[in-house]
Amino acid sequence: MRVRLTEIGFRGKTSVEADKEMHNPTTDIEQMIQELNEIQLPGSLMESFDAYREDILRSATREFTSSQLNWYLDLLNRFRGPDDRKDSLLDVFDPEMYTVNHPAWDSPPGTRIQMPALTSEVARLADRNSEFADLAREEIRVFYKLAESFADEEVLGLARIAQAALVDQKTTFHGRRDAIRYLALNASALLEDLWAEDDTLWLRAPARQIEFEDMLAKRQTNLRLSETSLPVFEDKDFTCYAEDEIRAFAFDIRKLLLAGRARHLAICPRCQRRLEYWTGLVERFEQATALPDATADA
Ligand SMILES: [Zn+2]
Repeated sequence: MRVRLTEIGFRGKTSVEADKEMHNPTTDIEQMIQELNEIQLPGSLMESFDAYREDILRSATREFTSSQLNWYLDLLNRFRGPDDRKDSLLDVFDPEMYTVNHPAWDSPPGTRIQMPALTSEVARLADRNSEFADLAREEIRVFYKLAESFADEEVLGLARIAQAALVDQKTTFHGRRDAIRYLALNASALLEDLWAEDDTLWLRAPARQIEFEDMLAKRQTNLRLSETSLPVFEDKDFTCYAEDEIRAFAFDIRKLLLAGRARHLAICPRCQRRLEYWTGLVERFEQATALPDATADA
């Protein structure tokens, strides 16, 4: 569900500021999407974990320039190959990729999650003569070669970024070799394919027990303080819509705006999903009841 942010008074820009941004609509939209992501309240345990992941990755990348981060992403994409490119460092090191049918997608937001072992940990348990071990050795060799032009501290810097994105609270790196092994194993598209074929090894490795910050509380506090260009959120903006409200909005979206409750939609993935569901039903209903010649008149 895409929300027209300007309609709900989300950014609170003056028309002069808005005009200045007009000449670069793409950047404007990207920035809007990013701002929206940063204020979304987690609707499930997995979304809490994801919000935390984004926050600590943002802190971990603060010391790097955007061109340094682009070189890193380029290095990782060359390593992964043209068919497995990713758009961001957050997507390359994504522990959620390995969570098919994880209960956290349907659990309420929280601060503790069990995640599958990282591929770099799985490697310690794999038999030396297994297909996994062969692939792992080859991937480390390839990464080693690709990273030749990167200084030791640059490789270690990237390893720390990977660690943040993976929410890995345990690993410490003892030099370049260590960091390269970690990066190669956790960014490998070939090992991801192997996991997709047969995840026995990953399931056998001890799961990670992760405790993290209460992101629901953190985001709510930020919205109340409104340090950004956002308007301050009030109590009513945090309340989920009632079932009959959702239905009414699905039939006529203007009701949402007139009721002064639109801000909640911007921050609540749960209500976004509910409205999306009802809008879909209404659309199908309208298509089913439309007269066959109705479109001819339009
Ligand atoms: Zn809601």
